[in-house]
Amino acid sequence: PRVVGVGADAVERAAESALRPHDLTEFVGQTVVREQLQLVLAAARKRGAPADHVLFSGPPGLGKTTLAMIVAAEMGAPLRQSSGPAIQHAGDLAAVLSSLDEGEVLFIDEVHRMARPAEELLYMAMEDFRVDVIVGKGPGATAIPLELPRFTLVGATTRAGLLPAPLRDRFGFTGFLDFYTPAELVQVLRRSALLLGVQLTVEGAEEIGRRSRGTPRIANRLLRRVRDWAQVRGSGIVDRRAARAALEVYEVDERGLDRLDRAVLEALCRRFGGGPVGLSTLAVVVGEEAETVETVAEPFLVREGLLGRTPRGRVALPETWAHLGLTPPRGSAW
Ligand code: ATP
Repeated sequence: PRVVGVGADAVERAAESALRPHDLTEFVGQTVVREQLQLVLAAARKRGAPADHVLFSGPPGLGKTTLAMIVAAEMGAPLRQSSGPAIQHAGDLAAVLSSLDEGEVLFIDEVHRMARPAEELLYMAMEDFRVDVIVGKGPGATAIPLELPRFTLVGATTRAGLLPAPLRDRFGFTGFLDFYTPAELVQVLRRSALLLGVQLTVEGAEEIGRRSRGTPRIANRLLRRVRDWAQVRGSGIVDRRAARAALEVYEVDERGLDRLDRAVLEALCRRFGGGPVGLSTLAVVVGEEAETVETVAEPFLVREGLLGRTPRGRVALPETWAHLGLTPPRGSAW
């Protein structure tokens, strides 16, 4: 099955793919993961064998899909793309697996969201390059073994902890992607500006980089929005003034928090007096799924010191109140 990224429309996807780095040298930042991956791939190439299965873990937009494409490119292998939510039956997966060519790279985005029976089929396929296809039902059902070509599975997940251990253990290498530094985002932005033919000043890049939630996808998106502003209301050049004015229009604040981030913090402070409050309660109040709050908003807020996680729930920290311009209630533990 051909599967598309969640939440991105066709225009977004096209804009994104135009800016994707094609090899590891073009890939900015993530120096640890890059070096580890380089070794895995170089060794496989030397052995003339498909690479070990690889898992990429990290918040959305940090480059997991890009790295999957780079794995295929560096191995000179074709890439097949699918995603966990699209694989709801073992049969769906068996069909994909049995149609792979020797050495092909199979990318499964959101691999933690695959259905259970498919997951179990995948364990066997990853380990033995073989699956048992069950034919028939009840006592008459028979398992027909099916040999598979040797392939490389690249999985992506927003949290490796969501994966069942047997699946996690079958990946030969896990790359943990972390948020990018503002300086790395400046590099991403300069590269993108060059590709898009946008004139970008150093201050403009710094301003956008600082407000991109440590995320290249967001940096690239903000760059396009600031370019719009510059073309319509400015001089056409993406400088600090254009960046500040445009990001105000798009409600991206000084620290790069977006609507969801702010909704979470506002609810935490105004509705729950700074917590502690459980994740699911918080999610209901902001009108999002708990998983979205947990994997999309929280990692960045925690890293920024704007949200605390305790065994009793989420809590506001001194910086949270300060950022919202609120005074913490007297006697608050935080
Ligand atoms: P999701 O899990 O939401 O699909 P992702 O982690 O797979 O996100 P990508 O789609 O790989 O993220 O990357 C998003 C965008 O950011 C792409 O357009 C890509 O060009 C850009 N990008 C990501 N990482 C880098 C990087 N290290 N250097 C340059 N550009 C990058």
